Amino acid sequence: MKTVGLVGWRGMVGSVLMQRMRDEGDFALVRPVFFSTSNAGGRGPDIAGVDSGTCQDAFDLAALEALDIVITCQGGDYTSEVHPKLRATGWRGIWIDAAKTLRMQDDAIIVLDPINRPVIDAAIDRGIRDFIGSNCTVAAMMMGVGGLFNHDLVEWMTCTTYQAASGGGAQHMRELLTQFGTLHEAVAGELADPASAILDIDRKVLAAQHGLSAAETAHFGVPLGGNLIPWIDRDLGNGLSLEEWKGMAETNKILGRGPGLDATGPEIPIDSICVRVGAMRCHSQSLTIKLTRDLPLDEVEDIVARSTAWTRLVPNTRDATLAELTPAAVTGTLTIPVGRLRKLALGPRYLGAFTIGDQLLWGAAEPLRRMLRILLAA
Ligand code: NAP
Repeated sequence: MKTVGLVGWRGMVGSVLMQRMRDEGDFALVRPVFFSTSNAGGRGPDIAGVDSGTCQDAFDLAALEALDIVITCQGGDYTSEVHPKLRATGWRGIWIDAAKTLRMQDDAIIVLDPINRPVIDAAIDRGIRDFIGSNCTVAAMMMGVGGLFNHDLVEWMTCTTYQAASGGGAQHMRELLTQFGTLHEAVAGELADPASAILDIDRKVLAAQHGLSAAETAHFGVPLGGNLIPWIDRDLGNGLSLEEWKGMAETNKILGRGPGLDATGPEIPIDSICVRVGAMRCHSQSLTIKLTRDLPLDEVEDIVARSTAWTRLVPNTRDATLAELTPAAVTGTLTIPVGRLRKLALGPRYLGAFTIGDQLLWGAAEPLRRMLRILLAA
């Protein structure tokens, strides 16, 4: 039985990972050891039938060296500090990570096995030992329309994203709700009076947004409640945000495409505008795809629907869209709906689509635990 160290299990991604591992019985297959960077000696998580013991120090290299596999959702700073030191000891175990730090390194693979299992299997055969989860937005998109990529049907793609507060972390979700509360409070009296004037309400809400305190905007910097923010992550200084850059870089790396990779083909151009919206934990994306060839819509639908076992084609109707293609309908599920699928007025090779995914499940935790299962079965 492999000894598996879990680091970062207390955080938001880690908690979802723990829940999924419990649900799928993963703990019965491994000897888990729990670590913390800030709570060594504290109690491990509650796992039915397993004594999780006390947490070990996640910076203790000797304790880490004793492991066959490390799974970390702790964060990029932890990975940057510990991974090189641990490898420098000669440790040849497997490192599975949610953080972006190692994703684009030559000797690391981005894991999303329902889409890139052949890339993962080839990497295991080559002796690769670092398996990294992708950016959450990329994972959610690929779980929706990955079939089109795997059938070599995408000449290029543009995305406009509608990304949830959870992408920033737990504190961002709390901040969004706090802001909604402040805005509601500002007009609660008017809302209770059906005769009150909507433009008065609107004016007061705007004043409340502008009046949010520094504490109420500490994480987003500006209001997100009743607002949106068309910039996510660092400014690369070339007109792109880091989140937008990841869309092309990580998608191609997942597929094993582009220079320096065991290319299944040339790099596919992907451009995005990434937007933070006031959703809680589902990332949505509006896609424009230029197909490599004209294919009847029913064939496109069939390929999309078969992208993965979790992909669900939503009929392009108002009723189906409202019922199935919203963040509130998808949150907490592994289902990845794809809807609004249609050929665009631009021409027969242009496709429009809209897809949604829970960014803490397929966007973060699920590919990691599935990677563990792949390794345990190898
Ligand atoms: P998080 O909720 O902020 O948790 C990170 C770590 O903070 C915890 O694992 C825990 O580690 C520590 N911590 C300190 N005090 C805590 C407390 N009172 N409660 C819980 N944890 C506490 O971060 P996250 O959103 O899960 O993200 C973790 C990593 O996953 C990051 O690298 C992130 O970029 C990546 N990721 C995130 C998402 C996302 O949507 N949020 C998606 C994909 C990837 P210790 O026990 O070691 O102190």
